[in-house]
Amino acid sequence: MSAVILDGKILAAKIKEQLKSEVKILKEKTGCVPCLVNVMIGDDSGSCAYANSQKRVAEQIGIEYQLKSLPHDIPQEKFISTIESLNADKDINGIMIHKPVPKHIDYHAVTNYVGIHKDLEGINVANIGKMLLGETDLIPCTPAAVMAHIQSTRVSLEGKEVVIVGHSDIVGKPLSLLLVRELATVTICHIGTSQAGKLVDHVSRADILIVAVGKAGLIKGDWIKPGAIVIDVGINKTGATIQGDVEFESAKARAAFITPVPGGVGPVTVTMLMKNGIEAFKLQLEGKGR
Ligand code: NDP
Repeated sequence: MSAVILDGKILAAKIKEQLKSEVKILKEKTGCVPCLVNVMIGDDSGSCAYANSQKRVAEQIGIEYQLKSLPHDIPQEKFISTIESLNADKDINGIMIHKPVPKHIDYHAVTNYVGIHKDLEGINVANIGKMLLGETDLIPCTPAAVMAHIQSTRVSLEGKEVVIVGHSDIVGKPLSLLLVRELATVTICHIGTSQAGKLVDHVSRADILIVAVGKAGLIKGDWIKPGAIVIDVGINKTGATIQGDVEFESAKARAAFITPVPGGVGPVTVTMLMKNGIEAFKLQLEGKGR
């Protein structure tokens, strides 16, 4: 058996076409297109490359994208007042805070200053709370990308054993809420699971395995349940190569579907950011967040 590769570029291209049509319709109706701002502190080259890829995708869809660069030593209070002025700006529909931020900035605290209806990444406490209740369309982008990949397989989640490895606030935890909403049976593994020597037990019974840790080859190919769906979120740079958290070739030999790294979850994540931009624009058309 060799798995079907879930090509993120192909899936992202399909979603981009849908979003492009939606932006066109919104423009005909309102005369405007969504305008998004990425607020970046400093000019780290990795961050700039990611911002450039966001800008490219925004342009493909017809969305306006601005990069607001702030000095590396900006005090937190000044940073917050910049966010608040963007919240008040009626021409800005979506705001994201680019990671990483310098050590003197409390990322978690500042994200909560982004207006609830302009929260492009769906990560402030209000949106996470609303997500728990199924009351927001501003879903964190990587979990949304994982869900899009699973949906592209047309395999129903209902009653499936889904194992997530990694319980971060931006991937594992919000993803578990989205999966439960689809009536999957969800297990979340983390460092405690590994330290207890139980990671292999959980992974090997997963109908659907999602790994978001950041450790190259953590998941061995022979742990994969035959016929499983494997979604590898991990990005690990080793010299000039990029690898996921799953041993790709040996996992591919057992799985039914698998995402490659690079080219799996990443391209869809950027597209989901744009989807949130459109949702935010629509919320503001309804008079919210202005
Ligand atoms: P975090 O570092 O925030 O979280 C990593 C998680 O993995 C934590 O829950 C941690 O548990 C857990 N973990 C660490 N070691 C082990 C282990 N040995 N066994 C089991 N669990 C372990 O990372 P992120 O969630 O931000 O990102 C995870 C990966 O996904 C990274 O490689 C990142 O680059 C990538 N990523 C990719 C994206 C994409 O679009 N493709 C987007 C976002 C992230 P604990 O906290 O208990 O130690």
